[in-house]
Amino acid sequence: MMNCREATRLMSEAQERKLTLAESAELKIHTLICSGCKNFGLQMQTLRGLMHSFAQDDEPKNKKSDSKGSSDDTSL
Ligand SMILES: [Zn+2]
Repeated sequence: MMNCREATRLMSEAQERKLTLAESAELKIHTLICSGCKNFGLQMQTLRGLMHSFAQDDEPKNKKSDSKGSSDDTSL
């Protein structure tokens, strides 16, 4: 049976290489019974998704708050 250290290592390795069938099967079984590693995997997926969206979003202008609205711009 795979332990938590192996499971987390496999999860991070899975970002860089394709796991073998045996590895991914063992990992899946482990995350079924281990909520800690399951959460770790979910966080890793979330982080990966965030980094992916950051990489695609090149425009920092998006970050500016538009809560005030643009109507003030025309007052000059
Ligand atoms: Zn575990």
